[in-house]
Amino acid sequence: MENKILGLHHITAIANQAKRNLDFYTHILGLRLVKKTVNFDDPGTYHFYFGNETGAPGTILTFFPWEGIGQGINGAGQATHIGYAIAPEAYDFWKQRLGTHNIVVEENEIFGEKTLSFKDPDGLQLQFIVPKSTDNRTPWSTPEITTQNGLKGFHNVTLTLKNSEPTIKVLTDILGYSMEKQEGNRFRLSTDTIDTANIVDIMEDETTPYGRGAAGTNHHIAFRVKDDHVLMDFREKVLSAGLQITPKIDRDYFYSLYFREPGGVLFELATDNPGFTKDEPLAELGRHLKLPKQYEGRRHDIEQSLPQL
Ligand code: ZN
Repeated sequence: MENKILGLHHITAIANQAKRNLDFYTHILGLRLVKKTVNFDDPGTYHFYFGNETGAPGTILTFFPWEGIGQGINGAGQATHIGYAIAPEAYDFWKQRLGTHNIVVEENEIFGEKTLSFKDPDGLQLQFIVPKSTDNRTPWSTPEITTQNGLKGFHNVTLTLKNSEPTIKVLTDILGYSMEKQEGNRFRLSTDTIDTANIVDIMEDETTPYGRGAAGTNHHIAFRVKDDHVLMDFREKVLSAGLQITPKIDRDYFYSLYFREPGGVLFELATDNPGFTKDEPLAELGRHLKLPKQYEGRRHDIEQSLPQL
């Protein structure tokens, strides 16, 4: 398993107002802010990482909150739904809690799993799912959300595609996923290298218009590898399949490669090392604004220009 894809590492999406985004994910959904940093290409914009206590791979949802960015459109060529695993006992808790916060919740069943579907304040489509298999991950807890009710981390991510075949080929032939089942136009692929955050669903619909990236849409999804040696092995595999891929990029908390799969979704591969405790102790994760080295000299200006939280 050492040299395989180990499910999802993180998912990154776009928001509008930083404060609203921070409040929603930490207060309403009860995730831990595990890192507060800036967009490496645009240091006037925050980069938030939300996850469990340690920010374990498979629990991390990250946002670029660009103040004033327009509304995006979820559609074909995107990761359109982000699925979190919850305990069976947490289902009614969330149905009620989301309702209390005036969030419209739709109840459905996907591949036999009970699902609460709703949108975040920017329109990002989230799903809380009771998986058929047991999920032993320990959620972060808050005064309002107990460990039993908390979000365990990702269950799956759903890609909406006009034509699923080329994307399925990348998932199976390069990333080691297998086709598990199909219901109508919905496919479920999974990897057995790990037992959580190991599912990619695909909804195929030729008539769905293409999405447009802005607030409320996904930016990319990242798959997890153990370390940079495995990362570079995958770089060769992606290149051999005739796809373009970036060089290795140092993201401070992991090393990354990016490539666009043929269906239009930006895929990243990201390492476990070095992790979020690289520059803050576990107990203090997310408390301090962390800047990449190249911006440390401009800290004062950057702090002044960032939106108020
Ligand atoms: Zn990423």
